[in-house]
Amino acid sequence: MSEFSLELNEDQQQIQKWVHDFAEAVVRPAAHEWDEREEFPWPIVEEAAKIGLYSFDFFAQASLGDSTGLTLPVALEELFWGDAGIGLSIFGSGLAAAGIAGTGLAEQVMEWVPQCFGDADKIQLGAFCVSEPDAGSDVSSLKTRATYDEANDEWVLNGTKAWITNGGIADIHVVVATVDPSLKGRGQASFVVPPDTKGLSQGQKYLKHGIRASHTAEVVLEDVRLPGRLLLGGKEKLDEKLARAREQQRTGAKQPAMATFEATRPSVAAMAVGIARAAYEYALEYAKERSQFGRPIIHNQAIAFALADMKLEIDAARLLVWRASWMGRTGKPFTNAEGSMSKLKAGEVAVWATERAIQILGGNGYTREFPVERWHRDAKIYTIFEGTSEIQRLVISRAISGLRVE
Ligand SMILES: Cc1cc2nc3c(=O)[nH]c(=O)nc-3n(C[C@H](O)[C@H](O)[C@H](O)COP(=O)(O)OP(=O)(O)OC[C@H]3O[C@@H](n4cnc5c(N)ncnc54)[C@H](O)[C@@H]3O)c2cc1C
Repeated sequence: MSEFSLELNEDQQQIQKWVHDFAEAVVRPAAHEWDEREEFPWPIVEEAAKIGLYSFDFFAQASLGDSTGLTLPVALEELFWGDAGIGLSIFGSGLAAAGIAGTGLAEQVMEWVPQCFGDADKIQLGAFCVSEPDAGSDVSSLKTRATYDEANDEWVLNGTKAWITNGGIADIHVVVATVDPSLKGRGQASFVVPPDTKGLSQGQKYLKHGIRASHTAEVVLEDVRLPGRLLLGGKEKLDEKLARAREQQRTGAKQPAMATFEATRPSVAAMAVGIARAAYEYALEYAKERSQFGRPIIHNQAIAFALADMKLEIDAARLLVWRASWMGRTGKPFTNAEGSMSKLKAGEVAVWATERAIQILGGNGYTREFPVERWHRDAKIYTIFEGTSEIQRLVISRAISGLRVE
């Protein structure tokens, strides 16, 4: 048993500084250009791969090689402090890797997770494909269908995925599809689609409000044939899961809570904390330097109190993130949906704090000459993806009440 401490250990402090230095020297100076170009920032991801930040090793070390759970959120906060669009371009593959690690057999994890990153000489990308045009918040109603061709031991996938980060440009697509639609969420399975698989193509690329450097597109699956071994978790486990689900459907037993989703939410929340902190720090410095009526604007309580509230809310959000990350890593059950709490709070704080930062910068804040308007646009996605704020509230209210709140 270790003593209670909120102090980062030496390794974590080093990683924090290492990522911060990269974010400050490489990411932030490039942020405006890639936001305007609205293209995947390959040269920056290459730089990240050169120093080992974009790598399987770093992903494994930050997520698994840390008993406290804090290394990953600390690193993400620093990277996204630099820029969220570029940050997501560097970290989007991590979501696919987490999808494989969450459901794959050990040998599948060993084979496919490193391929989501490639290496510095040949960068690869991963994409995690769940959402569909008619199934965003309601992930239980996916229409993408996976049918088993027993004679050839092959799975055949058909459907369209919407709003997929790295969709179509990724080397590894992790696709969630329904095997038995009558079982809703419990009739689904995940598949690895390897590079250059016939039948997988990119649909439209979306033009977005924020995180514009991150590539977001449709993924179209037309008779994609996959060898049986690309079903994550294996056929035996899937058959058992389906049998259990059919039995529970027959007897009316309750479905277990979707605890696994809770585990990835703190990482996404940490990204939002990084954006909020960037805006707060920028606004604080600006308020000290900008003078009106003969004195720096920070001398007005209206400005100073706004900054005090920003600092307070950001620190509160970070503490929720750290708590949930620590719980996830140490196997504590999220009995009150603590993962959702961290995501909800951090996303809403990021939107609110970046809007406050625009106000503090006044006219400058509203122009694209200054970064705060970009941070505000970037922050908004954190109340939408990985579960909207409404869905987080639904999850929390169900957890605390034990009722099926609608
Ligand atoms: C930039 C970007 C990147 C993304 N990346 C990925 C990715 O890599 N992989 C992936 O699978 N998906 C990804 N998504 C999809 C994202 O997860 C979904 O957009 C999100 O889950 C919301 O789904 P929806 O857009 O269909 O909204 P809807 O589900 O249609 O929701 C619309 C509104 O209704 C509300 N609502 C819905 N149901 C309820 C309810 N029961 N109670 C109260 N309110 C409700 C929502 O909160 C929201 O305000 C991404 C989206 C974007 C924009």
